[in-house]
Amino acid sequence: MANAPEDEARVYKGVEIVKDGSWKVPAFDREFATLEKAREFISARTKSATKPGQRCGRVVSGTQCKGMVKHRKSGIYACSHCKAKYREA
Ligand SMILES: [Zn+2]
Repeated sequence: MANAPEDEARVYKGVEIVKDGSWKVPAFDREFATLEKAREFISARTKSATKPGQRCGRVVSGTQCKGMVKHRKSGIYACSHCKAKYREA
């Protein structure tokens, strides 16, 4: 599998991580120096796994998103409000 040097995106526990110089977690509006740190953060945030019909876990500027997670297509869920993407664990 070839990795593009820029704009590299991956998904960890259903939360997207984007490499853009640092490792960014768009769903939570956070960035980390290493992929490992980003994963640790996501692990802590996703202990109560996101399921369709639940409140979106995304936090923007300290405020939790008020959107709901909805089923989008097989195995993929997305917030109706902020469009954060979640993948079935
Ligand atoms: Zn949301």
